[in-house]
This record gives sequence, C-alpha cells and structure tokens, in this order.
Amino acid sequence: MVEESIESRGISDRSVLEAMAEVPREKFLPAHLCEFAYDDKPLPIEAGQTISQPYVVALMAAAAELRPEGRVLEVGTGSGYGAAVLSRIAGEVWSIERHEVLAASAGQRLKELGYSNVHVIHGDGTQGWPDEAPYDAIVVTAGAPTVPEALVNQLTPDGRLIIPVGRKRKVQHLLRIRLVGRETTVDDLGAVRFVPLIADQSWAEFD
Ligand code: SAM
Repeated sequence: MVEESIESRGISDRSVLEAMAEVPREKFLPAHLCEFAYDDKPLPIEAGQTISQPYVVALMAAAAELRPEGRVLEVGTGSGYGAAVLSRIAGEVWSIERHEVLAASAGQRLKELGYSNVHVIHGDGTQGWPDEAPYDAIVVTAGAPTVPEALVNQLTPDGRLIIPVGRKRKVQHLLRIRLVGRETTVDDLGAVRFVPLIADQSWAEFD
C-alpha cells in the first residue's frame, strides 16, 4: 500500500513512509472491515464517523513537517489511527475527539497497542487544547467552514496548521497555515473530502 498508494503519488518523506508501513491499520477497524484495511479508502467506524484514507493521512503528516522532538495536536481522533501514525514521527501527540465513545475506545486501543506518547482527550477541538499549547503542528481531520482562530493561536512560531477548509460541507481544500512572526502564510494542498468539524457555530451560518 505504501509504495502503490502513497510513494507513487509524490510523498517522499522517509519518516512518514516508515510510519505508514509500521502502523497496523487493521487494528483500528471494526473486525468485519479488516480485509479492507490496506485499500486506500476511508472506511466507516463507530458514531457515524470514518477512518481517513491512508494517502490523506500521509499527505497531512508530510505537510505538518514533523520532527522527532515535535509536539503535535490532532483534532478528530476517530479510531486513533492518524494519531498512531503521527506518534511514530513526532515526540508527543495530543488528540482531541468530540464523541465520548470514540475518545474512550481510541484511547484504550492506543494504550493496548503501546502508543504511550499519544494522549487522547474528549472535547471540542475547535478550541484546541490550550493546556499543552504551543504545538509545532496541529492536524485537523474534519472539514471546517473557516479556520478556527483558537488553533492558530496555539501554534509555536513557525508552527503549521493543517486543516480542510470549505464553505460547502462535502468538499474542502486542504490548507497548510504557517505562522511566520505575527503573520500567516497559506499553501493550498488540493481538494479533499472530510466529515464536518462540528462546533457550536461552525456550520449553522453557512448551511
Ligand atoms: N483521524 C481519524 C482516524 O484516523 O480514524 C479520522 C477522523 S474522522 C475523519 C474525523 C473525526 O473528527 C471524527 O471522529 C469526528 O467525531 C471528529 N470531530 C468532528 N468535530 C470535532 C470537534 N469539534 N472536536 C473534536 N473532534 C471532532
């Protein structure tokens, strides 16, 4: 899968490719879907959510420009798979999930599999996790109508926020927002399709 679906599509960061090869995606899926674990597709998990497509997990991890000592916040733990991948590349990962059932099951799974540098939190990730800020990178795995300011404020100088943004629920553009001094720069990494980032005011005014 790594050669066919990820490396061949232009991702060359060795640490990302090694992490993708190392983390067993089948362990993050419901038993009846294990046979599809290495298809390059999103798949359903509990609470009506999805485990992301492997290529997109790798794309986001590469865009985040992680280093072994880096501190990362992931918004949208889901199954815990993306957090596990990030934890093989960076030093410490905090991952926040709004569905309590998912936060509990992913936290337990990651513990049992030995991902001891991942910390799962139940809460609203649009507010980030100020307790552990600042972060070298923040990776958001659900689509937002606009960029949550609270997340930008929790980046280190030169920190990167990777987030799908779009005013229609079903199509977004994956953005890399980099803090440069007090300014930000934006790279558009292409069209993507994520489940919505849910927050009090996030979508209501755009629907
Ligand atoms: N990274 C996940 C994985 O590897 O399985 C995939 C996550 S799924 C595409 C997006 C997740 O974002 C869902 O689990 C959803 O419940 C969560 N989510 C949506 N809005 C959120 C919010 N405001 N705060 C935290 N999590 C949120």
